[in-house]
Amino acid sequence: MDFYLNTDNSFNRLLAEYKKYNSLVVAYDFDNTVYDFHGKGLRFDDVIELLRKLKTINCYLIIFTGNDDTEFVKRYCDDHKIPYDAINKNPSFFQSESRKIYYNVLLDDRAGLAQVYCELNQLISVVVS
Ligand SMILES: [Mg+2]
Repeated sequence: MDFYLNTDNSFNRLLAEYKKYNSLVVAYDFDNTVYDFHGKGLRFDDVIELLRKLKTINCYLIIFTGNDDTEFVKRYCDDHKIPYDAINKNPSFFQSESRKIYYNVLLDDRAGLAQVYCELNQLISVVVS
């Protein structure tokens, strides 16, 4: 099996990175990860609560979105107390000309959200114990 198809390996890498930097760069998607894009009445409270906890353990949070209305994204997150440090922008401590945003881990409804959600909650329970 490929190394990072084993979830123990991806979790252990994240934990090692967190311990090294006392932080992680966590990117998260906006539409249908924290915001009900189609207005179907979907709730995203668990991911939002996870983001708040990540902020308390010094994680750097980047909204990584294709939503063009950045002012709306900011206002929505501010109004719903969803923490973020940047939108579609690398942290100042990681400069790159690449179009890919740098992150240690990504929360995205179209990219293994359940696995990442579980790994980050597990990480929080380890580092706060
Ligand atoms: Mg999405």
